[in-house]
Amino acid sequence: MIKDIATPIRTKAILEKYGFSFKKSLGQNFLIEPNVLTRIVDHAEVTEKTGVIEIGPGIGALTEQLARRAKKVVAFEIDKRLLPILKETMSPYPNVTVVHQDVLEADLKQAVSDYLSDCEEIMVVANLPYYVTTPIIMKLLEEKLPLRGIVVMLQKEVADRIAAKPSTKQYGSLSIAIQYYTEAKTVMTVPKTVFVPQPNVDSAIIRLLVRDEPTVAVQNEAYFFQLVRASFAQRRKTLLNNLIHFIPNGKELKPLVEKTLEEVGIDGRRRGEALSIEEFAKLSDALDSALK
Ligand code: SAM
Repeated sequence: MIKDIATPIRTKAILEKYGFSFKKSLGQNFLIEPNVLTRIVDHAEVTEKTGVIEIGPGIGALTEQLARRAKKVVAFEIDKRLLPILKETMSPYPNVTVVHQDVLEADLKQAVSDYLSDCEEIMVVANLPYYVTTPIIMKLLEEKLPLRGIVVMLQKEVADRIAAKPSTKQYGSLSIAIQYYTEAKTVMTVPKTVFVPQPNVDSAIIRLLVRDEPTVAVQNEAYFFQLVRASFAQRRKTLLNNLIHFIPNGKELKPLVEKTLEEVGIDGRRRGEALSIEEFAKLSDALDSALK
């Protein structure tokens, strides 16, 4: 068996051989603890039937663990300095394709059909670059890719916000956006010491299992998400006040907004953070029709 890339000694040797210097602006914190990597792959339940999309392979520490268990891996890396390194480290793994591209600009549906079409299921597995965690996750979900799920390492604070329940400090529009599409769970917290260089924040692994249908049915998805964001715009304001701010001519329409809230059984004196996704869905449908 080849020695793991993620051991501190092998990582150091690879970095020295290529004279690689980390770019903080690209969120380059590489994992140097093989046990953490195998836990990520375990939580993703990757098997020989799985096609994996990886974001940011770095020098291939996680890619290698995925390649050993998955049918195929396609990995998007933005930093061209890593390409010759990956060419060497991935040479024992013919089931890996590295694509030199910013994942935010990638056509992922096309990538699935080009590289992973013979896989029975698709998972996204990654140690994400922390400066773009949320845009990456939202892209994966909004593009409605045929994913079973997403298992990623990210900042603990973001993981807490994603998996938060109503009436907690962490609960917000991000929790609702992601829980709308997935069942979200933080599966492990990870200390800074398993990275080189060490990040400034604590990390966590989150598992997002994509739902067959969104958690609630809404008539107008775009309006629902706008309403949710508006309800958290000023967290200390009441829901009614935030809504009046959000709705064009809100002040004049206050009686109609109050009547609509009453009809759906939601007290406008509550704060947005106390509303469940189901309540936001009910309110979104009712307000959207009432204001048409
Ligand atoms: N997977 C490696 C590991 O676990 O050791 C590296 C993870 S490191 C946290 C993030 C990686 O994402 C880096 O290799 C970085 O160059 C890459 N990256 C940053 N922004 C990216 C983007 N927009 N698209 C693709 N890769 C990106």
